[in-house]
Amino acid sequence: VSRFEGIPMAPPDPILGVSEAFKADTNDVKLNLGVGAYRTEELQPYVLNVVKKAENLMLERGENKEYLPIEGLAAFNKATAELLLGADNPVIKQQRVATVQGLSGTGSLRLAAALIERYFPGAKVLISSPTWGNHKNIFNDARVPWSEYRYYDPKTVGLDFEGMVADIKEAPEGSFVLLHGCAHNPTGIDPTLEQWEKIADVIQQKNHIPFFDVAYQGFASGSLDADAASVRLFVARGMEVLVAQSYSKNLGLYAERIGAINVISSSPEAAARVKSQLKRLARPMYSNPPVHGARIVANVVGDPALFNEWKAEMEMMAGRIKTVRQKLYDNISAKDKSGKDWSFILKQIGMFSFTGLNKNQSENMTNKWHVYMTKDGRISLAGLSLAKCEYLADAIIDSFH
Ligand code: PMP
Repeated sequence: VSRFEGIPMAPPDPILGVSEAFKADTNDVKLNLGVGAYRTEELQPYVLNVVKKAENLMLERGENKEYLPIEGLAAFNKATAELLLGADNPVIKQQRVATVQGLSGTGSLRLAAALIERYFPGAKVLISSPTWGNHKNIFNDARVPWSEYRYYDPKTVGLDFEGMVADIKEAPEGSFVLLHGCAHNPTGIDPTLEQWEKIADVIQQKNHIPFFDVAYQGFASGSLDADAASVRLFVARGMEVLVAQSYSKNLGLYAERIGAINVISSSPEAAARVKSQLKRLARPMYSNPPVHGARIVANVVGDPALFNEWKAEMEMMAGRIKTVRQKLYDNISAKDKSGKDWSFILKQIGMFSFTGLNKNQSENMTNKWHVYMTKDGRISLAGLSLAKCEYLADAIIDSFH
């Protein structure tokens, strides 16, 4: 008899479990719209040309594999803060930004959660309803209490702005407010700049601390700067802000696990103390971060020619997703005779479309049509080709009615 009898079987992950089920399906028509990973029109994974160029440079230089410092690669940390805040942002010159390289977006969020747990005991994190499924796991495992604020209004398939502001106002003073910097996952609905200003107003009034999750910089609009506008607006008000970053999507570095946690503080002394504690938290968890992805980012962002090439490639990826979004909408609205308004598909931005399909309908998509997606009705348009739009339109119409 095993000493592990008391350990029950864990359920499959709601997002990554979808890829496992997809792999097991032997039907040729199958389509994986579960995980948010960019595919080419041929539905193949894509390694960016700038990434290959940066890797070639790295090979030529014959760099070694010594440990990085706990806080990560200095050139990466500089590049990532500049990409987020703008290179000439005064908070950088004033040394008010504590940047620590993290294990992509997830690891960076987890490190910040550990900081909250240790230095803000009892403080709550407010998360949007709905949100990326892993947010709840991250705060649960870090033993940080959380609650939800209203975000998505199914009636308008848009932002429930009044509800969002009311719930942020209602929360205990000094809570952390988790915000998606751009391309909200799973809804694809972002506040406007005027709405961001009002959100910043209530957060300031209530002495809350904004905590941005930036996993799609460049993927909402195609522009790195435009997609960082929300974060920069809060920072420009002189607020203290936490920001987790990920290069999984915008540089296609999914498996390299490269990202960062940035804490913008009101003094250089506070930033230095925060950074020292982030390092102290990281050391017993994973000791120090991996170097390969950090060097790629530092090379791409730090070299003007590669940086421009990256921007062009990102516009290409964001553009392909916009094209399939339009084609999917055209097919659905032409084929569906029920009179349902599908224009929400075009209003949503980023990698995803939040279709409004419920759990049963999402299961019909998978069981009958071999379309793999999360049960909250989210589909990743990054995994869709023009050639498959018509098939997907048929599947969605059939599952709805
Ligand atoms: N936050 C959000 C909202 C995401 O969608 C993702 C990726 N699915 C992440 C964070 C982090 O992903 P990763 O750990 O691969 O950077």
